[in-house]
Amino acid sequence: MRILITGANRGLGLALAREACARGHAVLAGVRGPGSSVEQLQPLIEQYGDRVTILPIDVADENSIRYASEQAAVRFEGIDVIINSAAILLGRNQKLEQLDLEQLEQSFQTNLYGPILVLKHFLPLLRKGQRQAVINISSEAGSSAGAYGGDYSYALSKSALNMFSAQLRAELGPQGMLVHAVHPGWIRTDMGGEQAPGDAEESARGILDLAERQTTAEGGALFIDHRGVPMRL
Ligand code: NDP
Repeated sequence: MRILITGANRGLGLALAREACARGHAVLAGVRGPGSSVEQLQPLIEQYGDRVTILPIDVADENSIRYASEQAAVRFEGIDVIINSAAILLGRNQKLEQLDLEQLEQSFQTNLYGPILVLKHFLPLLRKGQRQAVINISSEAGSSAGAYGGDYSYALSKSALNMFSAQLRAELGPQGMLVHAVHPGWIRTDMGGEQAPGDAEESARGILDLAERQTTAEGGALFIDHRGVPMRL
């Protein structure tokens, strides 16, 4: 399979890129831009050669996404799976009186509009893929069951990402597209912190199992964790 992963230079995105390569897939590793460190992707390029393509994609910039999709269309006939992993976590533990609307807007820009625009511009290539799966990396923070307060920017953006996933499934599911919003678990990355109980590699294995699995036409529960356990929206 050919898999596009956004935010592939570190954290879960990097773990997904490593696992996908180890399983024999080709990877389009989306990285934000020249400022992003890509050292951790170098060993993959050395080991797997042209099965790994670094694709500059700033998910907060539609022009960058459009350009990346045009570049990809020149080189590849189709993409089988899109994993929207890139995200930011801003303004946690803020009381409503401290809410910074700019942080809310930035969170929506990256965590919601990013995946929407990636899908919008890469859809023609995804339609030509043999597998046709979309995995939006969400969070339990976006679940009404997981709300613990003071997490307006991130939680609202992930909750809206879940609804985007539902919309996408309603539109594209009948045409054979698999769509999931996936909570990857609380994992040790820059975002998750050192104290997180889970590791990104295990989460990546579960997410790739989901992407590879043949499912029913309905696709099962929309919002699940990395082991496939349904989550409450
Ligand atoms: P990290 O903070 O470790 O990594 C974030 C990644 O997103 C980096 O590669 C970063 O690139 C990229 N990114 C951020 N903004 C942009 C942008 N505008 N364009 C392109 N890339 C961008 O996060 P994690 O790996 O932990 O998170 C991965 C996913 O998992 C996210 O969707 C997150 O919300 C979700 N998640 C994580 C949990 C955890 O415990 N870690 C728990 C629940 C959900 P750069 O290096 O350029 O900044």
